Amino acid sequence: MALILYLQPHKRITLKEYLTLAEIQEDLRGGDLTCVKLVSHYLQNIESNQHLNAFVEVYADEAREAAIAVDEKITNGTAGRLAGLVIGLKDVLSHKGHGLQAGSQILKNYQAPFNATAVQRLLDEDAIVIGRQNCDEFAMGSSNENSSFGPVLNAADPTKVPGGSSGGSAVAVQAGLCHASLGSDTGGSVRQPAAFCGVIGVKPSYGRISRYGLIAYASSFDCIGPITKSVADAALLIEIMAGADNFDSTVSVNEVPAYSRNLEWSGKARIGYIRESVESEAIAPDIRQQTSDLLNRLRAEGHEVTPVEIPLVDSLLPTYYILTTAEASSNLSRFDGVRYGHRSAEASDLESLYKKTRTEAFGNEVRRRILLGTFVLSANYYDAYYTKAQRVRRLVQEETSRFFEQFDFLISPVTPTTAFTIGEKTEDPLQMYLADIFTVQANVVGNPAVAVPNGSDENGMPIGIQIMAPYFGELKMLAFAQYLTELNRKSAAILNTNH
Ligand code: GLN
Repeated sequence: MALILYLQPHKRITLKEYLTLAEIQEDLRGGDLTCVKLVSHYLQNIESNQHLNAFVEVYADEAREAAIAVDEKITNGTAGRLAGLVIGLKDVLSHKGHGLQAGSQILKNYQAPFNATAVQRLLDEDAIVIGRQNCDEFAMGSSNENSSFGPVLNAADPTKVPGGSSGGSAVAVQAGLCHASLGSDTGGSVRQPAAFCGVIGVKPSYGRISRYGLIAYASSFDCIGPITKSVADAALLIEIMAGADNFDSTVSVNEVPAYSRNLEWSGKARIGYIRESVESEAIAPDIRQQTSDLLNRLRAEGHEVTPVEIPLVDSLLPTYYILTTAEASSNLSRFDGVRYGHRSAEASDLESLYKKTRTEAFGNEVRRRILLGTFVLSANYYDAYYTKAQRVRRLVQEETSRFFEQFDFLISPVTPTTAFTIGEKTEDPLQMYLADIFTVQANVVGNPAVAVPNGSDENGMPIGIQIMAPYFGELKMLAFAQYLTELNRKSAAILNTNH
C-alpha cells in the first residue's frame, strides 16, 4: 500500500526504545519528550518499514493533531491514563469514520459508523490511534497470508510469516511502528503472532472485554486482546477496556481489578505443563529445549512443576473448527452486497447478487470455512457434528475446571514451531490449523491466556511460552507473566556474563 512521505529527512527523530508506557510518561513529564515527537517517530518507522505491510492505512495527519491535543492536556494536567500511548488497531475493530474491512474486499470502502467499546475506552484515556493493521481475512488464519491486502512479513526475518490472524498488529509492535496494538483472538490470533514476533499477547477471559464493535468471526470464542512489549502495558490496557457494557450482553459485570497495580508476584505457584510439549517429536527441538529450561528455572525457584496429560487434547482442534466455522457461516451471512461493501456488477436478480458478490469478494479460506460451517449446521449432519462438538466443548470445560482445582497455571509453548516460511503451509490447511494446537483450548473453554517471549531458536526466530489461568484469573496470571519475564531476563543476563 502506497504511503505518502511523512517527514523531511532532516527532521529525523531518534528516540530510545521504550518498553513501557510508564517510561514514556516519565519522559513526557520531564519535558524532553512530547506526543508530537512520539508520533513523528512512529510515522518515520512506518515509512521505512513499508515492505513489512503491517498497516493497511495510516492516519498521519490525524495522529499528529491528536498528539498536539494530548501534549496540551499534559501541560494543563488534564491528560488521561493513556497519554503518550500510540496504538494501532487490527482491521476488525470499529473506529468511527475510519475504514474497516477485516482484511477483506467484501467490505471495500466501508467505514465504521461508531467506535467499538474497547476503542472508545482507549480514546477516552487519550490513546492516539496511528492506523489500522493488516490481518487475515475475517481473522481466519495463522500466518496473515489470507489477507486481501497481501501478506505481512516478520521483522525478525522477512522470508517468514508473522503468524496470524493479528499479524500486522504483532509486527507493528515488534518493529516499533507503534507502542502497542489491539488484536482479536478467537483461537490464538493474538498469542500466536505475538510468539512468532517476540512480543507479548494476551487473550483475556471470554466476556472480560466487550465485543461491541468487533467484527464477529465466532461470537462465542472471540476476544479482544492487547499486543505489547511489556506485561505492565498489557495489564493497563485490559484494565481500561474491560468491564460491563450495555452494548454487549455477554460481557461480564464482574468488577475489574486494578491489574496494572498488582503485578508483584509472591509465593509459590502450582504449575502443570503439558508433558508432550517437552517430549513430543512433533514440537520443534529448540522449543522443547527452551520450554524445559524455563520449567527447570521455575523448579529451581521453588515452584511446584508437574507434567500433566490433557486427555481431550486430540479433540480440541476438531471441536474448535466445527464450532467456529458454524458460527462464522452464520455471522458472515450479513455480507451480501445489499447494504454495504462490495456489490457484484454482474448480478441479475437477488440470488445471483448474493452468490456473485460473495464469490467475487471472499477469499478462499473464508469460503472454505463458510462451506464447512454450513455443512456442519445442515439438517442431516447437525447432530453428528455441531451438537457433538458442543458436548465435547462442555467436557473440555469440565476437564479444564478440574485441572485448575489442582493447579494455578497451565504452561505450554505457544506454538509447536517458530515462524515458518511464507508459502510453506498455504496448500495444506490441516498443517496450518496445527499451528494453533496449544492456543485453542483457552478459547474453547473461555479462560485467559498470555503469550510471553521465551528465547529464540537457532536461527534467531522468537519462541513464546503460554500461561493459561482459571476463568477470570487475569490478576494472578498477569503477575506471574511479569515475574516470568523478569526471571527470563535474569537468566539471559547470567548467560551473557558467562560467555
Ligand atoms: N488461527 C486460528 C484460525 O484460523 C485462530 C484465528 C483467530 O484467533 N482469529 O481460526
